[in-house]
Amino acid sequence: MVYPETFEGFAVHSKETWASPKRTEFKPRPFEETDVDIKVKACGVCGSDVHTVTGGWGSCPYPLVVGHEIVGEVVNVGSQVNGLKIGDRVGVGAQAFACLNCKQCKNDNEIYCKHQLDTYGSTYPGGFVGQGGYASHVRVHEYFVFPIPDALETTLVAPMLCAGATAFSPLYRHGAGPGKKVGIIGIGGIGHFGILFAKALGADTWAISRSDAKKADCLKLGADGFIQTNEKDWNVPHELSFDLIVNCANSNQNFDLDQYLSLLDVNGKFINVGLPEGDGFAFHPFKMLGNGALFGFSHIASRKEILAMLNIAAEKNLKPWIETIPVGEAGCGEALRRCHENDVRYRFTLTDYEKQFN
Ligand SMILES: [Zn+2]
Ligand SMILES: [Zn+2]
Repeated sequence: MVYPETFEGFAVHSKETWASPKRTEFKPRPFEETDVDIKVKACGVCGSDVHTVTGGWGSCPYPLVVGHEIVGEVVNVGSQVNGLKIGDRVGVGAQAFACLNCKQCKNDNEIYCKHQLDTYGSTYPGGFVGQGGYASHVRVHEYFVFPIPDALETTLVAPMLCAGATAFSPLYRHGAGPGKKVGIIGIGGIGHFGILFAKALGADTWAISRSDAKKADCLKLGADGFIQTNEKDWNVPHELSFDLIVNCANSNQNFDLDQYLSLLDVNGKFINVGLPEGDGFAFHPFKMLGNGALFGFSHIASRKEILAMLNIAAEKNLKPWIETIPVGEAGCGEALRRCHENDVRYRFTLTDYEKQFN
C-alpha cells in the first residue's frame, strides 16, 4: 500500500544519470491541517526540471522527483482547508509554500516572499525535501492549489501552471492590453504562451526570434507581427515602438541586448523570465538613455495571477501546443532529454498516470 504512508515517483538519482529517472518510493512530509493531497493525473515538463537535474543551476538534492506543472484530483484535505474538497480537479505550479504573513505575501506577491519554497528540491523546516509531479501524489499547502475551470482540458492546462503563468504574470502586471505593442522574445515553451496570452489580453503582439523557422507557428498562434534578428540592423525599422517586451529566451549566446532595448518606446519595459545558465547580461548604460528604458525580471506568478490566467484561458478557449508522453521511467527520461535538446513544439505533458500508479 503506497499511499498515504509513502508516494512513488520517477526520481533522478545523480547528475550523471539525469536522463534515466528510476521508479522510487519516498516518504512525503508530515500532513498538516492546511494541506491537500493530490493524486496526479498529468504533469508538464519544464525547462527548470532539466536545469535542475543536470546540475545546470547548481547542486540539487538527489534523489529528486521533479515536475511543477501538476494537474490531479484532490484525495485528502486537512481540517483547515476551506476552498477545496475531495474529488476536485486542481493544479499546482512551481511554488508550494510561503509565510503568507509578510508584506509581500499580504500584497499578492507571495512569489517574492523570503520564505517561499519551490515545489520540488526545497527543504522544509524539519528537513523534508519537496518532491514534484512525476509522481503518484503530491502534498501541498492549499494556498498553492488552484481549482481548474471545467472548460480546460487536463493535458492542455498542465503546462500553464508554470510556463503559462511565467509568461502571463509580466504581461498582466505591466499592462499588456488594447493599444499596447508587446514583443515576445524566444518562442519556446514559455514564449509560445507569451504570444497566446498577450493576444488574449488584447495587445498588438509581435514575436521576436533569431530566424524565420518559427514564423508560421507564431502567426498561427496569433502573433500580429514577426521580427527576425539574424540580419544586420534588424532592430532599426522597429526602434522606439514597443511598450513592453518579455524575454523568454533560454540562452544568452550572441544576444545583443542593446539592440533589443532600442525597440522600446519611452519608459518601455524589458522584462526577463528566462534564466539561462552561465554568464548574465551585458549592456551599456548610454543605450538606455535614448528611450529611458526600464529593465527588470519576473518570477513565476502569484495565486491571484494564476486564477486570472485560468479564467482568461477558459473564456478565450486558448489552446497551447502540447505533445504528450506517457509517464514512466522511459517517458520521463525521453521528455527530459528532448526538452534539453529543445526538441518539442512547444511543451510536453506526461499522461497515463493511471497505468503506472494504482
Ligand atoms: Zn511571506
Ligand atoms: Zn517551470
